[in-house]
Amino acid sequence: MKTIYANTVSQLFKEKGVREECECCGKTDWVLLNNFAALAQQNSDTPGISTFPIIAVECKNCGNMRFFGRGRLGVEDKTE
Ligand SMILES: [Zn+2]
Repeated sequence: MKTIYANTVSQLFKEKGVREECECCGKTDWVLLNNFAALAQQNSDTPGISTFPIIAVECKNCGNMRFFGRGRLGVEDKTE
């Protein structure tokens, strides 16, 4: 999965009009969780677990976490 960098994320947020203020505490200091790149998903119709590619950021002040779908942020997922 393509590696995303913190400066890339803030640029993507600007392009999409994502507000930088944390919706819980109002601070604007986010950390990109580089080792958290997908959510596991499971449903009753399909056996096994599949994954949904995301970008995860955490508020450094209160720990609120935001997940963004990589596809809608325009992040390409290429196998390398
Ligand atoms: Zn916060």
